[in-house]
Amino acid sequence: MRWNNLSEGSPATAPALFGTDVVSRTFDTPEFRGITFHEVRARSIVNRVPGASRMPFSWTVNPYRGCSHACVYCFARKTHSYLDLDTGIGFDTQIVVKVNAPDLLRRELGARRWRGEHIAMGTNVDCYQRAEGRYRLMPGIIGALRDYANPFSILTKGTLILRDLELIRQAAAVTDVGISVSVGSVDRALWRTVEPGTPAPERRLEVVRTLREHGIPCGVLMAPVIPYLTDSPAQLRETVRAIAAAGAGSVTPLALHLRPGAREWFMSWLAHHHPGLVRRYEVLYANGAYAPTWYQRRITGQVHELAAEYGMGPVRPGAHRSPPPAEGGEGADTADADPEPDPEPEPLGTQLTLL
Ligand code: SF4
Repeated sequence: MRWNNLSEGSPATAPALFGTDVVSRTFDTPEFRGITFHEVRARSIVNRVPGASRMPFSWTVNPYRGCSHACVYCFARKTHSYLDLDTGIGFDTQIVVKVNAPDLLRRELGARRWRGEHIAMGTNVDCYQRAEGRYRLMPGIIGALRDYANPFSILTKGTLILRDLELIRQAAAVTDVGISVSVGSVDRALWRTVEPGTPAPERRLEVVRTLREHGIPCGVLMAPVIPYLTDSPAQLRETVRAIAAAGAGSVTPLALHLRPGAREWFMSWLAHHHPGLVRRYEVLYANGAYAPTWYQRRITGQVHELAAEYGMGPVRPGAHRSPPPAEGGEGADTADADPEPDPEPEPLGTQLTLL
């Protein structure tokens, strides 16, 4: 693995992200069977987003790389190749853990050059994936953000976030905190194969409900909407209705995109599970990673209408801080140490807020 080659900028000139003292561990428990954790000591933890001007946030913190949630469409797969790790099953099972992330963050938040800007988490891989149950990095991270009253947002599919509810509540009392839960559809049969390591969609919506009941702003990133599998009018209606019923403060639809790394893995999954759709996908994604604009607009328009029907309306300025419409596979590629970040057009997903 290329730990020493991993840098924030040009590999030739920038300092390595991690030290060389990597410890690899496996745990023989059902939860972690088949997974290897590579414990590293990061050299920096607050990352500037490549091409930040196109994004709703400029800074991220990513305590993990790789994600056992194993979504077949996850674009963050590509980032594993920077470590010479496999972007398919390796991404799901070879997890890099930045064990010093909380200490490092506290130090960087206290540095004189830090301006207290918004920090987005869960933008590359899920910070509440299963590894977090063992390594417990997020309590230290949220505690540091709370102590510095530094605004932040978290995007996740992990129900484990509720473990830190009290810390999040404390942080929200002193700074601007936005939580977004990712639920692309509520189709259980599809969920089992397309997001096999994640909590079920209804459990994620329970997280939304619980956070809202505790007064913590929480929206839903309805992503990805998967062409021909979750995008029928009836499916969109069922998903938006469930999101509204959970009390989400907002819903942001985003159509599937397939960048290199994710595209190969997703298409092999499609060929296995839905071979009849392969040709249609080749046509729909013939021009690159993104579905055509007409398709994105159609999805956005339909979700708009449904959201209005279920009591959602336009965003009121200042009513709710938008969490980032990004997560591995669902939004922008914000991987730290990405030597060649992909260009990212503005997503067409539109946030709607419950009135
Ligand atoms: S899409 Fe998100 S939850 Fe799924 S594997 Fe990627 S980072 Fe993990």
